[in-house]
Amino acid sequence: MTRYDSIVLGVGGMGSAALYHLARRGQRVLGIEQFSLGHEFGSSHGVTRIIRLAYAEHPSYVPLLRRAYELWREMEATAGERLLVITGGMDIGPVNGEMLRGSLRSCHEHGIAHQVLDANEVARRFPGYSLSADMAAVYQQDGGIVLPERSIVTHVTAALALDAEVHGCERVLEWSAKGGGVEVRTDHATYRADRLVITAGPWASQAVPQLKSLAAPERQVLIWTQPLRPERFVPEVFPIFNMETPEGRYYGFPIYGVPGFKFGRFHHRDEQVDPDRMNRGFEAEDEAILRRGIARYFPDANGPTLAMKTCLFTNSPDEHFILDLHPEFPQVSMAAGFSGHGFKFAPVIGEIMADFAIEGGCGRWDLELFRLGRFKMA
Ligand SMILES: Cc1cc2nc3c(=O)[nH]c(=O)nc-3n(C[C@H](O)[C@H](O)[C@H](O)COP(=O)(O)OP(=O)(O)OC[C@H]3O[C@@H](n4cnc5c(N)ncnc54)[C@H](O)[C@@H]3O)c2cc1C
Repeated sequence: MTRYDSIVLGVGGMGSAALYHLARRGQRVLGIEQFSLGHEFGSSHGVTRIIRLAYAEHPSYVPLLRRAYELWREMEATAGERLLVITGGMDIGPVNGEMLRGSLRSCHEHGIAHQVLDANEVARRFPGYSLSADMAAVYQQDGGIVLPERSIVTHVTAALALDAEVHGCERVLEWSAKGGGVEVRTDHATYRADRLVITAGPWASQAVPQLKSLAAPERQVLIWTQPLRPERFVPEVFPIFNMETPEGRYYGFPIYGVPGFKFGRFHHRDEQVDPDRMNRGFEAEDEAILRRGIARYFPDANGPTLAMKTCLFTNSPDEHFILDLHPEFPQVSMAAGFSGHGFKFAPVIGEIMADFAIEGGCGRWDLELFRLGRFKMA
């Protein structure tokens, strides 16, 4: 039986980055993925993801984001392809709302250049937006798009070039701690390693039962519409956005990569699901929810539907990530509960998971916000 330094369970957004960072640091590493690489059943598909530096969720994310930007650019150089498209970004909401307050707090604490724009100024500079008079935006020039499928491909390709091994279409059935290391049984074979890194996305609680109520999969639906005035939705005049409104929190993108204006609503229909049994089709209500937001705030984008997709969030109770060692087995580490905002961090999460596996901890960042111990476990 081949023995590896590390096994990565799940080669999606985070696992592909962990695989690369482990291989880059000289580890003999195996990545195991239950589906084909780049599949559409998890959390990391749909062409585009938002990246932004002003971080309304919590200022603690900003140092990690700065490192993520650096690593995205490094990976672009390694792969010789574009993974990051800077469009500028806007956090939008009521003038004294949570979104604006959170965004401004992270800008002030971390000296991030930004501008506050009122609804008229937004309409003048970015005419695709139609905000109500009581809304405002924090505009931040570093916001933009990362490309999730290409990111997985480039991380895996770079890892393979460093002699990593990857097995697609192979499902991990169970793992156990063995003599300071781990044994991992799949539907094909059994493997041994010194360390196990669990990056199982929506399946996290199948791999670590202690995460049962802490990493809850939720169905999401996205739409791409054909704008009535397409010139208002190109990257040059349409920054990515996050928007707090009385109808919920929306997010969206200019036309990029595939035709259409891409739009979504956080916690689309609040549907907790089993990732192996969820509805991957669409109902009339799925589109209606999204159409209400588009009609209200982006009337010039409210043309025919071009595409829809389902995707999965994996929510932690406080919507902050879980990055930690396993509570019983320090040779096992996990990255879970990305709560719909993890992709932009993928390369820095990969680096942190390599630290956990190689050094037994991560000294380079303050990860207090992400400790598993902040929750009571089942
Ligand atoms: C609609 C939507 C919009 C989003 N928008 C943004 C955004 O704009 N910006 C942003 O930063 N983030 C965004 N996110 C969140 C981000 O995409 C996720 O946080 C990120 O993709 C999570 O990556 P992951 O590696 O944890 O999960 P995944 O990429 O799903 O990877 C987990 C992998 O583990 C595999 N696996 C699981 N169990 C097993 C097993 N037993 N054996 C073998 N393999 C296994 C799975 O098949 C899967 O490939 C969004 C998410 C969704 C759904």
